[in-house]
Parts: sequence; structure tokens; C-alpha cells
Amino acid sequence: MKKDIHPPFHKAIVHCACGNEFETFSTAKEVTVEICSQCHPLFTGQQKVATSRGRVDRFRRKYSKVGENSESNKGKQ
Ligand SMILES: [Zn+2]
Repeated sequence: MKKDIHPPFHKAIVHCACGNEFETFSTAKEVTVEICSQCHPLFTGQQKVATSRGRVDRFRRKYSKVGENSESNKGKQ
């Protein structure tokens, strides 16, 4: 490996939308995923809409601030 060109590579905690957490190695300290081996239909054998929860979480995060104070936020961005 060349010196001083690689980002720091360390232990990372992966958070899944299903609540599962596990450790891996990454350049990021924390990783958030929507699907993991504990909840993916391939591994669970269940038929379901696997990504729905993560999409809902993302939608709520994106629009949570809009509903709270939509009038005062106008023109600030
Ligand atoms: Zn999961």
C-alpha cells in the first residue's frame, strides 16, 4: 500500500432498518442499511416487501422538518 493516500480503515457498526446490528470493517464509522442477511427474503425464506421499512424511514427523515415549521423555513434554503 502506498503511504498517505488511503483513508483510515477501521471497525464499523452496521445498522439495519430491521434493527439488526453487526460489526464489519469500513472507512466509515457507521453504516446504515435497509436490508441485511437477517431480514433479506433470500435468507429468511419469507415472501415480503423487504425494502418498505427503509423507504418509509427515509421518507420520514426527508419530510419531518417540512411539516413542523413550513412557513418559517420558506426562503431560507
Ligand atoms: Zn436487516
